[in-house]
Amino acid sequence: MIQDNLKKVQERIHALDKNQQVTLIAVSKTKPASDLQQAIDAGQQHFGENYLQEALEKIDSLKNQNLIWHFIGPIQSNKTKQITQNFDWVHSVDRLKIAKRLNDQRPEGMDKLNVLLQVNIDNEPTKSGVLESEIDEILTHFENFQNICLRGFMCIPSPDNAEQSFAKMAKILQKHPNLDTLSMGMSSDLELAIENGATFVRIGTDVFGKRA
Ligand SMILES: *Cc1c(COP(=O)(O)O)cnc(C)c1O
Repeated sequence: MIQDNLKKVQERIHALDKNQQVTLIAVSKTKPASDLQQAIDAGQQHFGENYLQEALEKIDSLKNQNLIWHFIGPIQSNKTKQITQNFDWVHSVDRLKIAKRLNDQRPEGMDKLNVLLQVNIDNEPTKSGVLESEIDEILTHFENFQNICLRGFMCIPSPDNAEQSFAKMAKILQKHPNLDTLSMGMSSDLELAIENGATFVRIGTDVFGKRA
């Protein structure tokens, strides 16, 4: 079942991903480690998690399988230490304080943590992320961080105008030639995201089924 789902999602990606630049992140929040193991057995390597405690249990029980873990949920500052100790990527950096803590708390000897700045691309009051107008100022501070590597941007657009929002994200990335990553596209809009230059798509429902 999960194996078939993964295959279908991969086919949807490959149909549009002309430059082979898109990586599928299987978003496994609320799903048990046994479901992730099925995906791993089918060749899936990247997993996205939103809730730290739940993620840590799965990271531990699935260790030594060469997986790449992405933290994609809201970040409280008292959680940054465990996030930076246990993840390879963080997509949901939405303020400078969080970036600084992830940098300062990254354990010595680990590779740099890859981070994305979450952009509130539709200026929605209920969503986290920096506004487009704030990006340039925030980015100047990243030069001081030795243990994290800013790679690009992430967004969760309003469903009403996802296509325009994805296009805006592509423009923002183009303005920063030193960055290479756009995390955008979920089960319902992955095609639009890829057409507009996504490099990570984050797919939960269409891989693991509906969440409770
Ligand atoms: C849950 C979640 C997803 C996956 O959403 P689906 O619609 O189930 O594919 C992607 N990104 C984030 C940030 C999420 O919280």
